[in-house]
Amino acid sequence: QKAQMAGSREERILVLVRLRPLSDKEIVANEVADWECINESTILYRNTLREGSTFPSAYTFDRVFRGDCPTKQVYEEGAKEIALQVVSGINSSIFAYGQTSSGKTYTMTGITEYTVADIYDYMSRHEERAFVVKFSAIEIYNEAIRDLLNSDNTQLRLRDDPEKGTIVEKVTEEPLRDLKHLKELLAICEAQRKIGETSLNERSSRSHQIIRLTIESSAREFLGKENSTTLSASVNFIDLAGSERASQALSTGARLKEGCHINRSLLTLSTVVRKLSKGRQGHINYRDSKLTRILQPCLGGNARTAIICTLSPARSHVEQTRNTLLFACCAK
Ligand code: ADP
Ligand code: MG
Repeated sequence: QKAQMAGSREERILVLVRLRPLSDKEIVANEVADWECINESTILYRNTLREGSTFPSAYTFDRVFRGDCPTKQVYEEGAKEIALQVVSGINSSIFAYGQTSSGKTYTMTGITEYTVADIYDYMSRHEERAFVVKFSAIEIYNEAIRDLLNSDNTQLRLRDDPEKGTIVEKVTEEPLRDLKHLKELLAICEAQRKIGETSLNERSSRSHQIIRLTIESSAREFLGKENSTTLSASVNFIDLAGSERASQALSTGARLKEGCHINRSLLTLSTVVRKLSKGRQGHINYRDSKLTRILQPCLGGNARTAIICTLSPARSHVEQTRNTLLFACCAK
């Protein structure tokens, strides 16, 4: 039975698509919604003005969520199973990928909160174990890493640890108390990201945010004894830079160079994800970007990964929406 499972669903990257509703601003601007989820796995492009056009109009994924579907349901039916592996000592990563204003932050914030609520619920039902939950948050902007819980703005460095793999040096790891504490920390992170924005314009659409929860646990019975073992794992919630940055870079044919406005991390992630989707063996170029280096232990091996691709339904965004769906197709 187990052997049959190997190589199946568990090893793949789970690819979910979430359509958002038209915003009030878009409705006022007479925008039209051209995308529709016709069942639980298919999203359809129907633009009556483009009837008979040649590009494919139906896309199929593990699961697609309609514009009116609440985040709670996206969590329950999409991310929960993967995110909660953390309590069993298995690393995981949940990504939000999509153009700016498609709903990445909205989706990830909700999913992070629901995960934490479930983690505390799990802990309360397993009093035989002692748990420690730690929260950290970083931003990667132009391949520079910043601690979102520390306002002094110094750049954080990566170091290769023989045991733990790549670690972010001196990152703040805040012991998490409860769900209320998480919400406070998320608000601090959001404010930190906004501060950068005024000086560097559109920063949050160009930067990646990684929220990491690390859970350590050990059986109370063995606490402090020699035969006590600690289980440790992390779940990462990654709010990626706007995907329009990657397609701009590709369409201008620009080179991957530090310092120019191309998002090396986003492009490397696409390559890594494409390779992972074809099976988790062979050489994978994690070291080509900060994002993939940091996430390496939570992407390969027995780690679990979900990518939530967020879409705007608006007619004027059709090109970016199709780019996001093409990325999603490569990942599945
Ligand atoms: P992004 O992070 O991709 O730039 P946001 O998450 O900031 O986009 O979303 C843009 C706007 O759309 C926000 O005002 C957000 O509240 C709203 N929004 C996004 N997704 C949804 C949704 N599924 N339902 C309702 N409103 C949404
Ligand atoms: Mg955002």
